[in-house]
Amino acid sequence: MELPKKYRSICQAIEPFLSPIEFRELLLALCQEKLARLILSTQAILKIGPILKNYNIPMAIGKLRIIQKADQGKGGWSNLIETVYQNDDKPGFYHIYISTQIEKIEVALEAEGNGEYDLFGEILNIPKCCRNAYGNYLHTILKKQNDVTPMTSHNTTSFPPHNFWANIASQYFGYSLLSFAPCSLNCQYSQKISQNTYKLLLKYDRIIAEKFFQMHQSNIIYHEYFGIHCLQNSLWKSNNILTYDPCKILSTSKSQLSTALRQGTCIKYLSQKSFYILNNTEVISAWCGDDVALFLCC
Ligand SMILES: [Zn+2]
Repeated sequence: MELPKKYRSICQAIEPFLSPIEFRELLLALCQEKLARLILSTQAILKIGPILKNYNIPMAIGKLRIIQKADQGKGGWSNLIETVYQNDDKPGFYHIYISTQIEKIEVALEAEGNGEYDLFGEILNIPKCCRNAYGNYLHTILKKQNDVTPMTSHNTTSFPPHNFWANIASQYFGYSLLSFAPCSLNCQYSQKISQNTYKLLLKYDRIIAEKFFQMHQSNIIYHEYFGIHCLQNSLWKSNNILTYDPCKILSTSKSQLSTALRQGTCIKYLSQKSFYILNNTEVISAWCGDDVALFLCC
């Protein structure tokens, strides 16, 4: 997978208007790897639309104006669409579809409009195993904040440290090589997609690629309502004790979990859904249940 030379200047022109994750999607679309579907503001659309048009790259704007609702504890991340306005053409956020092949956009719009989510997922290059896992998990996420991320952790049956290529929890810190939740941290198809995306980014810009790579190689604690926490400078002391520097934690929000982590020095891994926080050898808090998901990947 390689970015055609003729598209390099488009990427450089559009990059300032997109987040790293959105930019990753554009790169993949320009390599014909997938259709890119983004939610962008009218301002961003007005900037990138003319650039794409100049290079004859098809882009479609969805008809619905979307108001998203930020998830609790996830630092502005949103998996919930609060309100949808049809055809009112007011400034706001809209779905954007970009592909070098116009037919792909047409099929995607039709599939999404008809609620054919499996076909839509296929156009987005999501592996079959992950699409199936999502279908089975849907009833669980709809009861909460519509976030499928815990599925990847909960379906993982091996012991940490896990393969970092499928570490989707890195997305909450601005960098993820995947646009979908893998069926498990051991999903080989997802790992391959992630590696290929990394190689593509590396050829485009080594510095950006390294940021994605480092974030994937992180130990991340997910809680549905008490934030997502990246334990930087962490190290396995034994097969279930992970030590970390309490001054080097990134948290998406303040909560009783972020406070407890800052009072501790290590975590004791019990399962993908349960762990203790320890200050040296003393247990200071215990966390377990379906709202907890561990992504211990380094
Ligand atoms: Zn999979």
